[in-house]
Amino acid sequence: MSLSNPYKAQNTPPRVVIVGGGCGGIEAARALRDTPVQVILLDRANHYLFQALLYQVAGGMLDAGDIAFPIREVLQKQKNIFVAQAEVTGVDKEKRCVYVSRRKQPISYDYLILATGAQGSYFGHDEWAKFAPGLKTLRDGISLRSKILRAFEMAELQENPESRPELFTFVLVGAGPTGCEMAGALAEMVRDTLQSDFRRFNPGMTRIILIDAAPRVLPSFSPDLSENARGRLEKMGVEVRLGHPVEMIDAEGVTVGGERIRSLNVLWMAGVKASPAGQWLGVETDRAGRVKVAPDLTVPGYPEIFVVGDTALIIGKDEKPLAGVAQVAMQGGSYAGRTISRRVTGQPSLPPFKYFDKGNLATIGRNYAILESGKLKLAGFLANLIWAFIHIYFLLQREDRFVVFLKWTFNYITKRRSSRIIEEPVLCGKTSDEMKEN
Ligand SMILES: Cc1cc2nc3c(=O)[nH]c(=O)nc-3n(C[C@H](O)[C@H](O)[C@H](O)COP(=O)(O)OP(=O)(O)OC[C@H]3O[C@@H](n4cnc5c(N)ncnc54)[C@H](O)[C@@H]3O)c2cc1C
Repeated sequence: MSLSNPYKAQNTPPRVVIVGGGCGGIEAARALRDTPVQVILLDRANHYLFQALLYQVAGGMLDAGDIAFPIREVLQKQKNIFVAQAEVTGVDKEKRCVYVSRRKQPISYDYLILATGAQGSYFGHDEWAKFAPGLKTLRDGISLRSKILRAFEMAELQENPESRPELFTFVLVGAGPTGCEMAGALAEMVRDTLQSDFRRFNPGMTRIILIDAAPRVLPSFSPDLSENARGRLEKMGVEVRLGHPVEMIDAEGVTVGGERIRSLNVLWMAGVKASPAGQWLGVETDRAGRVKVAPDLTVPGYPEIFVVGDTALIIGKDEKPLAGVAQVAMQGGSYAGRTISRRVTGQPSLPPFKYFDKGNLATIGRNYAILESGKLKLAGFLANLIWAFIHIYFLLQREDRFVVFLKWTFNYITKRRSSRIIEEPVLCGKTSDEMKEN
């Protein structure tokens, strides 16, 4: 199969290029399963990542392979699809082709679905990135796990660990779902898993500080549930500081609300911005870089280009933008795929995209979650069971569901973490710098 325009044979089925094999892209591809089209799915990674459980990789509960699946394998049975690992660098919407790094010839399309997600944002302070790593990709999850575990190793090496509190002070910036889930996982690790592992360092001395400029944690939930979650975090020993934006982050810590907190472990759990798809297209975006799409998720003036998921700005029924969550991306991807399918097969168009909100869930530690769905509000163990069931259900591969279930059961019963490997040895890279400081 030739991918470029000049060689595209006449009488071949219409070509749908999907950029991004995440939540939106995979659902779009699946929706085209039985349509007479040629689908080309391009992703710069070779895997689909279940980001909702990334914090569990960082927290040592799961391995990278438990939440990431080769895209090829996920779509293996779909005969009309060609999958390639390739980074898209631009789109020519007039010539109808996409540009890919390390490939001279562009790839042509009849229909294009852009599902390239979001990336970390430091609110205009990109210089903070090197001191406060974020959690977005699989690599981030693995590096964060090493950083966290290495902090305890460094503390154990001290003659007098109490004199170096910055080694075991963790500051998490951002009290949305990722920040709260990470804080809960870290608190539990310190309290339950690490207690008997060290001889000099007492993990009980660890400080976990969760900060956010917003007045409450988990602002996407109703105030009573978010207050309940805050209480839970504090009960687990997390210091929650709200209402002040971060002023500065450097190699030695963070300044917030005029206060200096010394910490070598500042973790960025805050903002995201859309992928640069809006720049590729040269179309209107909002401040977060999301493409303003029409009610059928196409780019105004270009009915053959769809933008879905975190990269799209979709206005919901309350006139507010839909949140950047997996369900919005999945439903949007499926809608784009079905719309193309109808056009290709000459069926009437679908009505405008309508998001079906199934509810909101966040977990803090092993026994607690909050759930809000319509009028239903739950906090505690039952919500946690529902959270676990839903997350296992949404793992793409059946065998991985089984592995994750077993690991969670093991972690739950033994309070141990099965994945506590520091990838890089001590005395290399950053670690050697830290060693020199002593
Ligand atoms: C840590 C974390 C926790 C989360 N937890 C939850 C949760 O609990 N519940 C929930 O509903 N949502 C959660 N989300 C949000 C949810 O994961 C996203 O809303 C969803 O994945 C968006 O889907 P998407 O298809 O737009 O993008 P993604 O799923 O991010 O997929 C984008 C894909 O595009 C690829 N790509 C990007 N740029 C290029 C390029 N130039 N060329 C080729 N490929 C490219 C990427 O490699 C990626 O595979 C979480 C997100 C994060 C980061």
